[in-house]
Amino acid sequence: MSRIRPFKSTSTLVLRQRKAHLLRSFQLSPQLLHASLVERFLKCGKASCRCHAQGPKHGPFYYLNRCLAKGQMQSLLLKSQDQIDQARQSVAAFNQAQQVLDEICQINHELLRRGEPLLAAS
Ligand SMILES: [Zn+2]
Repeated sequence: MSRIRPFKSTSTLVLRQRKAHLLRSFQLSPQLLHASLVERFLKCGKASCRCHAQGPKHGPFYYLNRCLAKGQMQSLLLKSQDQIDQARQSVAAFNQAQQVLDEICQINHELLRRGEPLLAAS
């Protein structure tokens, strides 16, 4: 989020209405995956292959990368188009959910800053 206080000039009523709308419409997708889909072109193991000279590398290969503990990553090679499609949808589902959660958190932060109760009915 580039804007630090996007709701600074929004009325408390509108913030509450927006939050109620987000909470009502929020659906947690069963596809969720917190990961990144990356495309890679790679060199093979044959030293004589064109990919080791100026020729094109092999690929694209698709990996689903998932951050674990600090500095650790789990990388899964996706072997079929179906896996790639599912991974793409899952990552998008997570990003959408995160956007909604981020907006609710921003609204709550602004409400708290104004001294408003967070649980008040809209
Ligand atoms: Zn090669």
